[in-house]
Amino acid sequence: MGRLDGRVALVTGAGRGIGLATARRLAQEGASVCIADIAGAVAEEVAGTLRGEGLEAFGVRLDVTDREEVEAAVGETAGRYGRLDILVNNAGITRDNLIFRMTDEDWRSVVDVHLTGAFLCSRAAQKHMVENRYGRIVNVSSTSALGNRGQSNYSAVKAGLQGFTKTLAIELGRFGVTVNAVAPGFVETEMTRTTAERMGFDFEDFVAARVETIPVGRSGKPEDIAAAILFFATEEASFINGQVLYAAGGPRA
Ligand code: NAP
Repeated sequence: MGRLDGRVALVTGAGRGIGLATARRLAQEGASVCIADIAGAVAEEVAGTLRGEGLEAFGVRLDVTDREEVEAAVGETAGRYGRLDILVNNAGITRDNLIFRMTDEDWRSVVDVHLTGAFLCSRAAQKHMVENRYGRIVNVSSTSALGNRGQSNYSAVKAGLQGFTKTLAIELGRFGVTVNAVAPGFVETEMTRTTAERMGFDFEDFVAARVETIPVGRSGKPEDIAAAILFFATEEASFINGQVLYAAGGPRA
């Protein structure tokens, strides 16, 4: 028996990285999962792979900044399985630059994907959760919320997501819907690989340098973050609401 038997989940940005590991983990615990990603073909391919592993999943193209696509994906998931219990707001991008070089587009695109995306997805999903008097929303924040050089846009949205989490927790708790956030530290994914490339570092060297600062002496893997998200997504976490869990190998990696 899985911890999420009979539950239905939608994970944004689930085409790869932390989103994919989370979708797989939720499905392994018995949930039926919508793999939603801006790369629609990738989402469908990933869903096919999960089905090949004996899990229940389907893929949709979803740009979280597009209200119509968000409502369609949420509607399709609830329509297909008759409910929507779990939303993981994971989709994300980085557009790092020091403030004097940061363009309007760097700023707006990061605000749009992380904050507007989480808002649109949560607003659409909560309707089904409130009707059903049950729901779990998990937002993916970051240790960058505490400040990180070159990431004024990204740290602002990741801190913003923490405020968003706490406010939704207050508004939705009475309907059996909890809202929490996981704030990862350094995790090996395409996102951090791209950061290393942009800074002109070999990825292995970049990881080694980061590991020096991480108390547990290793980098994070997508599965580490999926495990934390799973905890908030379970029924037994029903008294935990509006919290931010740093998953960083230390108090701050
Ligand atoms: P990733 O490997 O780059 O994966 C992000 C996924 O989100 C990609 O599949 C990407 O698709 C998708 N995406 C981007 N824009 C989207 C949009 N508008 N709508 C829907 N999907 C979209 O990144 P990751 O490292 O797994 O990061 C996942 C989350 O964890 C992000 O919120 C990130 O900020 C957060 N996080 C990561 C780390 C880390 O060290 N990796 C640390 C703290 C927090 P495309 O590539 O096709 O655009």
